[in-house]
Order: sequence, then structure tokens, then C-alpha cells
Amino acid sequence: MQAFRADIFHSPERGRIERIPDALLSVGDDGAILSVAPCPDTAPPDLVDLRAHGVLIPGLVDLHIHAPQFPQLGTALDVPLEEWLFRYTFPLEARYADLDFATRVYDALVRRLLANGTTTAVYFATIHGPASLRLAETCLALGQRALVGRVAMDHPEGCPEYYRDADPETAIRDTADFIDAVRALPGNSLVEPVVTPRFIPGCTDEALKGLGRLAAETGAPVQTHCSESDWEHTHVLDRCGMSDTHALDHFGLLTRRTVLAHSGFIDGVDMDLIRARGSGVAHCPLSNSYFAGAAFPLRRALEKSVRVGLGTDISGGPSDFLLDVARNAVTASRMLESGVDPDRPAADRGRPGSRIDFRDAFWLATTGGADVLDLPVGFFAEGRQFDAVLIRPPEPALQPMSDDNLLQQILMCAQPADIQRTWVAGREV
Ligand SMILES: [Zn+2]
Repeated sequence: MQAFRADIFHSPERGRIERIPDALLSVGDDGAILSVAPCPDTAPPDLVDLRAHGVLIPGLVDLHIHAPQFPQLGTALDVPLEEWLFRYTFPLEARYADLDFATRVYDALVRRLLANGTTTAVYFATIHGPASLRLAETCLALGQRALVGRVAMDHPEGCPEYYRDADPETAIRDTADFIDAVRALPGNSLVEPVVTPRFIPGCTDEALKGLGRLAAETGAPVQTHCSESDWEHTHVLDRCGMSDTHALDHFGLLTRRTVLAHSGFIDGVDMDLIRARGSGVAHCPLSNSYFAGAAFPLRRALEKSVRVGLGTDISGGPSDFLLDVARNAVTASRMLESGVDPDRPAADRGRPGSRIDFRDAFWLATTGGADVLDLPVGFFAEGRQFDAVLIRPPEPALQPMSDDNLLQQILMCAQPADIQRTWVAGREV
């Protein structure tokens, strides 16, 4: 058992921030929180007092990361999605046939994300089984909670010849083998395999159907891209005669365990279906600024009780720090609300009632992401896993600060260097 004395902030429900300035948190050997409460006058011996070093917040949950794209983070942002894939991204991803290269990149990425406070990560890898398994092994060895997908992509027109599954059978069989391999990793209680059709344009109907069946047979979670850009959304409408959301449902890929990246162009009917299936959305506002052509109607989705969390979308978004994405979710919602074209009159420039605030953003980065994954993390309570980040307030207190403002300043201004320590399942990483 371990005991921590800390100044904790968390958001068990959207819109509500709770602070316990002097909390006692005890954690069992399995990483589960045994109790969390204000510290009694006589504190038990052997506790670790964290209060002088910052505030303790729940670990950050990043719902959408392309691990192989880490080497091009912050670059390749100059062309639309459909060009970006063929010019920059498919050539880079094809290099993961080289296991040594994969090992080097994945080790660097997982270390960086843990240092940035990302305690749970949802990854796309590549089509290569050995390299994808290496990513799962790296998360396990370094102690990051993760969902990892070997990417399935077999469409002869949607994928280049040098980087695709030979046929639908290969896409399905290699995915099934990957699921077995991850589940068989010794001592694995942290990493789960994910059925990962890249997106509808990259997959044949046969592959999508087979992967839907595989998800049902194995109970594995699913991740894919949904209505990401004008091009992608229109492509699916033309090919399937329905939206991404409805097409994915038709292929059996819209489950309680599905994470849909982006979903910028979903309408109210799509939202109702996503909600009915219990799937979740990985909102990636930074990436959307470069590749979507529109802002995801986040507030509308939240008000319709669609489950939503945040994603960096490395490297579609040029940051590997989830708090950058959280503050950008606030910014994007404000831009959607006000509109952006100064030549239009203010009254018809934007979409009223679209904004979220820092409380929502903090919830999305922690509890919202955990809820999408049905994982017992995201806030501090008995029975939940101790995934936590000790973070130093970014500015010295130059004036008295309310609880709300202290958290707001952390959310809006903190940098990776402000993160002091990180724990996953009770283990310091
Ligand atoms: Zn993506």
C-alpha cells in the first residue's frame, strides 16, 4: 500500500471541479485507490507528501495518436488530407517494416508522452505486425496504459501499392493475429489491442465487414476516422450512399467500444446513432485546424450526451501535449461560436451557443476520455486506478487565486516542463 498527501483537483462530472487542498489518498498494490478524503489531523506515517511540489490532477487521456507519425510532428501541415497521406504520411509509415526504426521511434514517443502526463494513450500503429507489437511491448515496459491498433488498409485506390494489405483476408487475419499476440504478452494488464480499419476510403467493404465481425467475436475495441474532412466525408457519401457514421454501423464497427476520430461533419442524426450505440468521439481540434476545414460542433455533441474525449492526432496536430489540445478545444469552440470572417456581419458570422470553457476542457482531457474507453481512471475515487500527474502551477502566485483560477491557469498555460511526476496504476513512470 502507498499513501499520498496532496492538493488534488479533479472533475468527476462535466462542469464541476472539485479541489481538496489537503487530501489523503491511499492506493493498493493493484493500483486501485482505496480511499480519498481530507487528511485527518493525525496523518499516518510513511506517507509521501506532494503538496510542496504542485497540485495532483488525474492522468491525461489521449484518444487519438498515430505513433508512426511522431518523426514528422510539427511538419507536413501544408497540404490537404488526401495529399498529405500520399506525399508525407504513407511513405513514413511504410518505413516501419524496419523493426529497429520502429523500436527507436516508439521508445522515444512513449517516453515523451509519459513525461507530458499522458497516462492513457490510444494508438494507431501501421500495417506491420512486428512493429505494432513492439509499440504494445514498449507501452507495457515503460508502464503506459494503452490501446494499440495494427492498422488495416487494403483498398487498392485508397492506399499506395507499397503500403497496403494484399487483400481483405490479410487485413482481417493480421488484425486477428495481432489481437492474440497483445493479449498473450506476459504480465499484461495495461495494454489492449484495438481493431483498426484506417478509414473507409482506405478499406474495401469486405475488409470492413470482416473487421466488424472480428470486433464482435473478440470483444475488442474499435478505432477509426469518421467524417474527418470535406473530402473524406464526401468520399464516403458517394461510395456508400450514407454518412461515415451510418456506414460504420452497417459494417458492425459502431460499438460501445468504438472511438471515432474527428467526426467534424457528423449531423444530429449521426450524433443520435453514435449515442444509441454508445460509441465515443476523439475530438482533435488542433488537427482539425489544418485538415478538417471546419470545427467539430463539440458543445452540440456534449448536449446530445455523445461521449467525447480529446486527441492530439499526432502528427495531424502539431503538439504531443494534451493540455495544448484541451486549451485549443476552448479556442476552437469560441471561434465556432463567434465565426471568423470579419467581412460578415457579427450577427451571422458564427454559431451561437457553441463555446465550452476550461472546466469542460479539463473534464474532456481526463474523465471524458476515460468514459469513452470505459476505463476506471480520469478522477480520484475509491476503486478507480491511481493514474495521476503532479503539476506545478505555471506562474508563481503573484496575487491570491481562487480554486477556479488556479486550475484555469494550469489548463491554459502549463507546459510539459511543469509536470513533476507521473503515475500509472499506482506505479511511478
Ligand atoms: Zn488520425
